[in-house]
Amino acid sequence: MTKTLKRLAGYYKPYKGLFFSDMFFAILGAGITLVIPLLVRYITSTVVYLPSDKSTDMIVKLGIFMIVLVLIEAFCNFYIAYYGHIMGASIERDMRNEIFSHYQKLSFAFYDNQKVGHLLSRITADLFDISELLHHGPEDLVISIIKFVGAFGILMFINVRLALAAFLFIPFLILYAVYFNKKMKRAFRENRARIADINTQIEDSLSGIRVVKSFANEKVEMKKFRQGNERFVNSKKLSYKYMGTYNSGMGAFTTLITISVLLTGAFYLTKGEMPVEDLVTVLLYINNFTDPVKKLITFTEQFQNGYSGYSRFLEIMAVAPDIQDALDAEEVSDVKGAIDFENVSFAYEGTQEKVLSHVNLKVKAGEYVALVGSSGAGKTTLCSLIPRFYDVTEGRVLLDGEDIRELKLQSLRNQIGIVQQDVYLFAGTVMENIRYGKPDATDEEVIRAAKAANAHEFIMELEQGYDTDIGQRGVKLSGGQKQRLSIARVFLKNPPILIFDEATSALDNESEKIVQQSLENLAKDRTTFVIAHRLSTIRKAQRILVLTEDGIAEEGTHEELMKKNGIYSSLYKLSFA
Ligand code: ADP
Ligand code: MG
Repeated sequence: MTKTLKRLAGYYKPYKGLFFSDMFFAILGAGITLVIPLLVRYITSTVVYLPSDKSTDMIVKLGIFMIVLVLIEAFCNFYIAYYGHIMGASIERDMRNEIFSHYQKLSFAFYDNQKVGHLLSRITADLFDISELLHHGPEDLVISIIKFVGAFGILMFINVRLALAAFLFIPFLILYAVYFNKKMKRAFRENRARIADINTQIEDSLSGIRVVKSFANEKVEMKKFRQGNERFVNSKKLSYKYMGTYNSGMGAFTTLITISVLLTGAFYLTKGEMPVEDLVTVLLYINNFTDPVKKLITFTEQFQNGYSGYSRFLEIMAVAPDIQDALDAEEVSDVKGAIDFENVSFAYEGTQEKVLSHVNLKVKAGEYVALVGSSGAGKTTLCSLIPRFYDVTEGRVLLDGEDIRELKLQSLRNQIGIVQQDVYLFAGTVMENIRYGKPDATDEEVIRAAKAANAHEFIMELEQGYDTDIGQRGVKLSGGQKQRLSIARVFLKNPPILIFDEATSALDNESEKIVQQSLENLAKDRTTFVIAHRLSTIRKAQRILVLTEDGIAEEGTHEELMKKNGIYSSLYKLSFA
């Protein structure tokens, strides 16, 4: 725990100045709060008994002094509220940058096993809890301790009997506060879980709104939603009950303490054993020890939330990006594009079963090869080893004769263009989405790439051409149009190696023909791996590989494989049955 806290404290480093000035003003403010009642006591006990010309003079002077103190105290409060929050927000920004960069580096294997919503809440809710702790924690702790200890000492010094009359209730107040604070905390956690349920349901139902409507299940969705919404209100009711009990109880305790002090004071006053100014001063201090108790209890909660948030933050940060550059990794450029699989075996992380087992395959630079095989045979997996989305379990993958693990990851991936069935378009315009393939491309280059991908014409027919925003309107593009945008992206990237993974499988015959044409334009003079669902689209391949659980079972041109009357020919006949 101390190690974790030390590491957490390290985030203050760039903000040392802010931190110490924040602490300074916190201490100064707390000190002033403690001093003001003492001045009141001085006025009521001494000044008022001075000769009248002297006392008026003193009252004016002390009055001005107290006004100055109050102004300074107000400034202290402003300082810690303003700069304290700036410090908190800056640290939160630093941590957010840190975790986002870390997310960018983590590998496919990590994302295979994580929910995006879960990763999102690391960035939002957890970092908020941490920054609240980092910014309020130290100052709350210092202010509370100074105020409580200070008030206690001063009271004991002024009048022990009144001090004891006031402190009599403090243990009960603490017990009460701790008890209901725990209840409130549990209720708040329940609230948060219920609101998360609601959000998940909204997201799910709206993302799938087309499915909802096609099954005419609006009523079912509404019913489910109402139930979740009802559970939320019920959990709110409970937290309001505890909140009400807590606040009214704390108020009652403060009043009880006041009454206890008043009665004790009155008792000794009538006996003539106590000056009235003692009573006035003690009454003025009551808030100075009820407030810190409340604050300390909130602090423990803040600490728990912040600490557990930070532990989860560290958990994610501790996940090592398992695919990284080797120390002596080489930059690659001017690649010819020959790809060799040498005795490659592969199993996904956490599984024993090998998806690929002893695959040997030599692909010449510029060759156009097709991979076929039943669904789940490992075609996608085989291709994902080339850009090192995953590393081989056994064997080697070579690019122009060099083990790809010895190449700089970014330079390796720059050599490979991938067109998949699912196209992901980012928020932004058509122009920006194509430019994603080469961030420094000029408009002319983007347009040239769009033309090569047969996309220019339909883009020009969009209301705002290349400036059309796809973020919201991506839905309005047809599958074939989206696919051509993704092909334009790869044209712009201009890599020597291509992977088409079921790129046309989701398209109707009409757009398949256009997209197929775009893909063929793209494949010219590049090493190309084609995975196709419809075998008609790969007849032209120079070489067709049939992948089965036992590796590559058949290999040859379409004609050769048909003659062989093996797996390929039966797959082919099946697809036209
Ligand atoms: P294909 O593309 O030939 O249909 P895949 O390469 O997608 O086949 O899948 C091969 C096998 O690997 C399947 O049994 C599949 O369930 C499994 N698989 C695919 N992706 C993952 C993954 N990310 N984690 C674990 N297993 C996976
Ligand atoms: Mg696949």
